[in-house]
Amino acid sequence: AKGAQFTSSLLFEKAFVDGKWVTAKSGKTFEVCNPSTGDVLGTVPDMDATDTRQAIEVAFKAFQQWRETTAKERCVILRRWSDLCVENKGELARLLVTEMGKPLQDAQGEVGYGTGFMEWFGEEARRAYGDIVPSPFKNKRILIMKQPIGVCGMITPWNFPNAMITRKACAAIAAGCTVVLKPAEDTPYSALALCKLAEQAGLPPGVLNVVTSSRSNAAAVGKELCENPIVKKISFTGSTNVGKILLQQSASTVKKVSLELGGNAPFIVFDSADVEAAVTGAMACKFRCSGQTCVCANRFLVQEGIYDRFVKRLAEVMNADLRIGDGMDPATTQGPLINKAAVEKVDGLVKDAVTKGAKVVLGGQIDAKGDNFYQPTLLTDITGGMRCFQEEIFGPVAACVKFKTEEEAVAIANATQYGLAGYFFSRDIGQIWRVAEKLEYGLVGANEGLMSTPEAPFGGWKESGLGREGGKYGLDEYLEVKYVCMGGI
Ligand code: ADP
Repeated sequence: AKGAQFTSSLLFEKAFVDGKWVTAKSGKTFEVCNPSTGDVLGTVPDMDATDTRQAIEVAFKAFQQWRETTAKERCVILRRWSDLCVENKGELARLLVTEMGKPLQDAQGEVGYGTGFMEWFGEEARRAYGDIVPSPFKNKRILIMKQPIGVCGMITPWNFPNAMITRKACAAIAAGCTVVLKPAEDTPYSALALCKLAEQAGLPPGVLNVVTSSRSNAAAVGKELCENPIVKKISFTGSTNVGKILLQQSASTVKKVSLELGGNAPFIVFDSADVEAAVTGAMACKFRCSGQTCVCANRFLVQEGIYDRFVKRLAEVMNADLRIGDGMDPATTQGPLINKAAVEKVDGLVKDAVTKGAKVVLGGQIDAKGDNFYQPTLLTDITGGMRCFQEEIFGPVAACVKFKTEEEAVAIANATQYGLAGYFFSRDIGQIWRVAEKLEYGLVGANEGLMSTPEAPFGGWKESGLGREGGKYGLDEYLEVKYVCMGGI
């Protein structure tokens, strides 16, 4: 469908390579749609392996100069980029809502979070300290320095079209690396808008290159990034399946790899918890982005003494606070899911649970607002054999399980191959320490449902990923360590 023409001063329908707005060599393009209305917003180039190879060569050339800049020079450019994003935050958020669907307020929050990485990594660049280690030899000195790894290949998902770009690209750029990035096919415009502002901030041509491709070319672009020997680092956020493919492909050239993959987050409510606090935490980490974040609570484990009170109160607050609608409507808290396939997957998980005995307290259906809207749903009587307990739901469905003891809760929480985020609510200080230590997760929220911030490391254990983004650890992913042994002293 083609609705009212969407216009924005930051909408660019070309890819960005070597500081220029470019088309695919093949001349092919693909359409980008608003998931709320189905309207076509525009097109972008459908680039392939050849276009990607060219962008990699451009990034390699740019690296020769960019690596020679001082940390202070890079910091100043990142700071200017951040200032421009703050100035343009309204337009960046509007673009994000239109291509991705999340409510305006969430989009504004994401732009603030995304911009925070420019500031954070710009500052961190100046602290990429090495070491001088006491030497056991009288005539030798041990020096350790950190240097940029080189050209970085990046592939990002649609659920955070702004922040997933900046969390990776700003770390690399701050470290002195150059970037070839393929944004998700559903949300290329936020990435391209960031390129425009980077150019205005004075980022030299070739340091940040964005290659757009449709789903049908994604595998070829990914393979080129992973197997091209010029590329020294791959950073990916997305599904575990695709992450495993990229890791395998990167073995061919022994690339350093960072992966942020799927999760199956437990959200444990102990008898000692403050019910109101637990419900507030649940609302924040289950329904933000309509449940489409990799740190969204996936399994609610609730102790038997508090179970009925928690379920009742969660249902009340869901009823009172959640409003389905178009993301641009200020009253909306629940935008559409990204596409029809996502809705079908969520609906399939709910139907599977209901068939196996789950009870629907709220929701449970595709909403009358449109094909891509799913009702906020609360399910109880969930058991281990249900698919929503094993798989990442990625939708607005809260599935509750009753447990008896702390040991049982921790065992259930850890019985998954995933290990990204875990949450628990308790007012028992001993229990807080025990459970925080025992959860096999890269991020643990103890009496807190929202954790992400540029200052803290983000990353998963087990099959949820490799490496960390953000925090003081995020820069190291783009730096190589060099030990220089100074002899003849
Ligand atoms: P989702 O199912 O949520 O879209 P994906 O992991 O499939 O998650 O997508 C995340 C990113 O990975 C997107 O940019 C997508 O285009 C890209 N992608 C998908 N398949 C491949 C692949 N085989 N190789 C490289 N990138 C891929």
